[in-house]
This record gives sequence, C-alpha cells and structure tokens, in this order.
Amino acid sequence: MTNPLGTLWRSRWGRFTDREQLEYWRQARLAETLRRAPKRYRFYRGISGDCLDDFPIMDKATWLENFAGLNIAGVTLEQARAVGRRAEADRSFSGKVAGLSVGLSSGTSGRQGVFLTSRMERAHWAAAMIGRALPRPLGGRQRVAMVLRAGGPLYDSVSMPGIAFRFIDLLAGVSTQQRQLQDFGPTILAAPPAALDIYERAVRRGELSLRPRTIYSVADVLDDQLRDRLHATFQVTIGQIYQATEGFLGISCPQGTLHLNDDLVHVEREPVGGEPRRFIPVITDFTRVSQAIIRYRMGDVLVAAEKPCACESPLTQIDAIEGRADDMLRLPNAQGIPTILFADFIRNAILGAPGVDDFRLVHRHGVIELAVTPHTAWKSADRALRELCERQGLCCPDTVRTDFVVEPLAIKRRRVQVAD
Ligand SMILES: [Zn+2]
Repeated sequence: MTNPLGTLWRSRWGRFTDREQLEYWRQARLAETLRRAPKRYRFYRGISGDCLDDFPIMDKATWLENFAGLNIAGVTLEQARAVGRRAEADRSFSGKVAGLSVGLSSGTSGRQGVFLTSRMERAHWAAAMIGRALPRPLGGRQRVAMVLRAGGPLYDSVSMPGIAFRFIDLLAGVSTQQRQLQDFGPTILAAPPAALDIYERAVRRGELSLRPRTIYSVADVLDDQLRDRLHATFQVTIGQIYQATEGFLGISCPQGTLHLNDDLVHVEREPVGGEPRRFIPVITDFTRVSQAIIRYRMGDVLVAAEKPCACESPLTQIDAIEGRADDMLRLPNAQGIPTILFADFIRNAILGAPGVDDFRLVHRHGVIELAVTPHTAWKSADRALRELCERQGLCCPDTVRTDFVVEPLAIKRRRVQVAD
C-alpha cells in the first residue's frame, strides 16, 4: 500500500482529467488486488486471481459466514464481534484483535456487520475523505464535525495542520450533540439526515446556532424535501457522502453531484427491476487489505445519472442513493405479476401529499401499515399512495393506520420497509 499522503494528494489535487486515464489506473489497481487475494486470504486459495469472474459475488450474509477466511489474520467473527461490542459499550472505540481495529455497522439489514481495519487503512480512508470533502481552495482553517454512530476505528485518525476534526457520537443524545456542535462551530458538518433534520429545526427555533459552509448527509438516504429545507435554512450546498462500514464509496462534488470513488473502488452494476439506470453496486475495494472486499454486494439501490456533471470529473455520477434493495415493494400489476415499486417513488409521493410532515410504511403479509405525522394527514398520504399505484398500473394492497414513532437516532431511518 502506498503512503497516505499519496492518497491525499491524488484525492485532492491529482484529479483524473479523463476516463481513459482513470481506467488505466483502476485496471492496474484491480489486477493487483485480485492477484494478491489468493495469497492473502484463505477463502480464495486455489483461485487463479487472473480475472474478476474467478471470484464469487458475496452478499453480507455469505461474507460474514466466511469471515475468518476473508481477513489476513484469520480472526473469527465471534472474536471480532466480542471485541467490537465491548469497545462500543464503553464508548472507547479502541478494541483491537490481532492488531486490527474492530468496527460494527448499524445492522439494519439483519446481522450486524463487523469490519477490521489497520492503522494504515484508516489513514488512507481519512486522507481520501479529507481530500474530497474540503473546499478548494481551503479558505482558512476548517473545522470538520462528523456525527456518526460510532467513533469507531475508522474515524479517529484525522489530524492535520489547518484542519480540526471532531467526531460526535450519534448515540450520545441530541442535547449533548447540539452542545458539542455549538462549541465546536463546524465549517463542515457531516451527519445522517435524521440528525440534520433535528439540528435544522433547532436552528430555526433559535435553540442552536450553526453556520457550516458545507453540509454532507452521510450514511442514509437524503430525500429532496429535507435537502431543500436544509438549503433554505443554511444557504449552502447540501452534499452526500456515500460511506458505509464497507468503505468510502462516494462523495458529492462542488456542483452537488454524487460521484462514486472509482479510483478507490471498482463498482460492478447489478441491474434492478429492468430499469437501465437503477443498479445494486457490487464493489471491489483496492484500499482494503486487512479484509477482502472483493465483489461484495452492497444492499443499496443506486440511480445512475443521465447527464454529465458540470465539474467534468470522469468519476461515475449518481443521481440518488435510493435505499436498501430489500425495501423495494413488489406489488401485483393488472395481470397479477409482482412488480417492483421503488422506495423513492413512494417517498416523493407521500412526502409531497398535502399536510404530510413525515411517514413510515411497512409492507407486511400483503398489507401496508402506514404511519403518518401529523395524524390528521393520514388520508392525504393514503390517497397519494393509491394514486401512485394507479399511475404505475399496480394494485394497491389494503392499508392500515399505525402510530407514527420516531426511531432512535442511531437506528437507520427506513421510511419504506418490507417486513416479509
Ligand atoms: Zn461533479
């Protein structure tokens, strides 16, 4: 692995000017990652490593099942999980096993993900993130606040001249977070949308004073309504960081377009629902050595952009991170054939309905449970859903009214959920 400063330099200044140059760089990194895999990881012994197709595509469950064979130290899932949970319980985030730090994911998709990283990998992660997230030119001292579920080993290694970094614990409670943010006064604020939502309301009520120059939504789906509200209140561009415990996968450019980090991660596209622009990313991470992230199938649905971005970056452009692939509704069409209804269609229809502030929808055993706030807008939301189904030529199942409950901040917000 190269020096982290090299990563920082490339990420910030060494921009690829055209796709051909980028491809050349990527193909070399990909070939190296694959070639070394059979020697590094027990799971891949016997595989030639000559081409991507030699390697199986792995979802999270399979990847966790083969955990010990997929890391360089042979650490078992149980060992890693025990260390990770202990570190998270005492909020120290310093748990190590075989010299590697352990991070836990929020675990919305069934089993909780567990990730191992070395100090060098964390330095590279930080360098790549800083290189892309900071404004160009730097424009004075920057204070970067990142509000995330766990300080986790991934986020502790950022310290550079002219840049102060503060991790703020999402589990610490809203009033603690707001006090820390107020004291720190971030110029760059990155937080999950549910937290940004709360801060924005507090700012409008005059209970919190924040003047970030850049805001990033991270780790969850950012809907248009919240983006517009944040923009109206803070008067800055709202970007997105596509960051999972699996890796740093993408970030918005100054034009506000989300670009995938094609220079760090190879992304294959698994098509979804017969729509050419929608796909599930299957990633191979060039920067991870401690653990193999090779043809790892992410649980998200992405929407590829139609038009090229004005920033002229050759990195792949994404219109939206739509949500989890498991949360796409399948409803019968007129012929009774189950057909996908994408979560963002539902979000836009219901959040755009008169009077609706927020909602949660669960498709369970053929019935839709719909919770709406304020509850007086329930009929309006229900009507919007039915009209959407009609427009899409789908039969809308029966809907039942449920209570609207806001999930704790540390739990990923899933407005649309499939429970069976
Ligand atoms: Zn761009």
